[in-house]
Amino acid sequence: MDASPRGVAEAISYAATHGMLIGQSKQAPFGKGLCHAPFTYRPSPVDAKCYQHALDITVPLNHLVHAIAQDAEYLHTTLAGVSKADEKFTGRLLALEKASPKTDIQLSICRYDYFVHVEHDVRSLRMVELNVIAASFGALGAETSRMHRFLATHPTYNLHVDVDRLPENDALTGIARGVALAHNLFRKRYAVTGACIALMVVEPGDQNAYDQHILQAALWREHAIDLVRVTFLDVLAHGAVDSAGLLQLNLPQVGKPATASVVYFRTGYVPENYPSEKEWEARALMERSMAVKCPSTAMQLVGTKKIQQVLDSPGEVERFLNGAEASLVRRTFVRQYSLAAAEGGEAAADMAIERPHDFVLKPQREGGGHNLYDDELEAALRKMSAHERAAYVLMQRIRPQVIENIIVRDGVAAQVDVVSELGMYGVHVTDADGKVESFASGSLLRSKAASANDGGVAAGVAVLDSPYLVD
Ligand code: ADP
Ligand code: MG
Repeated sequence: MDASPRGVAEAISYAATHGMLIGQSKQAPFGKGLCHAPFTYRPSPVDAKCYQHALDITVPLNHLVHAIAQDAEYLHTTLAGVSKADEKFTGRLLALEKASPKTDIQLSICRYDYFVHVEHDVRSLRMVELNVIAASFGALGAETSRMHRFLATHPTYNLHVDVDRLPENDALTGIARGVALAHNLFRKRYAVTGACIALMVVEPGDQNAYDQHILQAALWREHAIDLVRVTFLDVLAHGAVDSAGLLQLNLPQVGKPATASVVYFRTGYVPENYPSEKEWEARALMERSMAVKCPSTAMQLVGTKKIQQVLDSPGEVERFLNGAEASLVRRTFVRQYSLAAAEGGEAAADMAIERPHDFVLKPQREGGGHNLYDDELEAALRKMSAHERAAYVLMQRIRPQVIENIIVRDGVAAQVDVVSELGMYGVHVTDADGKVESFASGSLLRSKAASANDGGVAAGVAVLDSPYLVD
């Protein structure tokens, strides 16, 4: 497979001129040291039926996440074991959930990730995980789809793809619409007449800031909503909850007092996002308010690997979804096992020690780079005490199809064997009367070298891609 050098130059230029940018390092000051996000030169093939399957279950999955988040007893019972083994994080989130009031308007922006599994030449959709917090790359992913479409229309760039097989990707529009719906419902419900802003809570020095800024700009352009990027510490320094439960802020970057409508978290999903007690204090302050948290702590907990493992057990998805929807969702599951001693964990660990290449060991963490595979998985399971094991779940390994593509990173193109992970965004808004708007909102395809076990784009392993639908 060869890339046209002119095509690669065009792709790099497209990326740079259409905002497909990331910070070169965490240390690079904002606006300095930008480079294009790594991407594939061509769109990668995705089975058209699998793509449709993923699309069909997006709204049911939105309902599933929402329904579980409403069921505090289910969350607390299911997570009791891991919260003891992972006291400092899952345990803390559970305690925070318990202390938090329920808000009547809710918003979730999720991304459901899949591989297309291949066995005996049969392709089927298999879920890798549900992302309930900080599902990123809505903006850059949608732009990657447009970049591939642009390149595919040109006769000399050698893409050899039929543009009709490149699905439209409205991820950014849908995510912005979700935030706007929740913001407007909030303003009305609480009769906010003064300045009202949406917050995006971010990590200081996030290399993915440009993906966030594109959403910020879209909210202003399309909905006249001021979305302000803040850190946990900004909120703690400049925010307070008033007697009506509203989160009031006087942020220097806004220059006047304003009420927060939506708090959209793009951080807060791993312990490292809380380097001191102050970040937890800020989180608790926001959680105490009536602002629409995306996600609420309860929703965030739905995204734990433990809940996803339990959902694989018979009857669990069916508690929350009707038969037809549950079976469509369930068909995407691979087997997951508890490692808690009281739930047959010993036998599961023995099975994985015997066949380490067939499993993935997952802790209650997100963002890539935390899972264990192969020899590391075996060594970890041998070393861990029964108590430590209970913080992990074991998942059957999915074997996606390996294809060839060209990865362009830092301006350099290289041919690589890759596997692709398809993500479908789902947006779900509930108003104070329980009326729901729930919709699928575009996709994200991330590809990584077939030899790499783990990894997302932010973790420096995967690159942006877009699907090319094949039969
Ligand atoms: P995180 O929350 O850290 O993103 P994931 O469950 O998405 O956790 O796992 C990270 C990466 O590990 C995935 O993007 C995928 O590449 C790989 N992975 C996860 N689960 C499996 C699995 N069952 N089979 C094969 N690879 C997997
Ligand atoms: Mg993931």
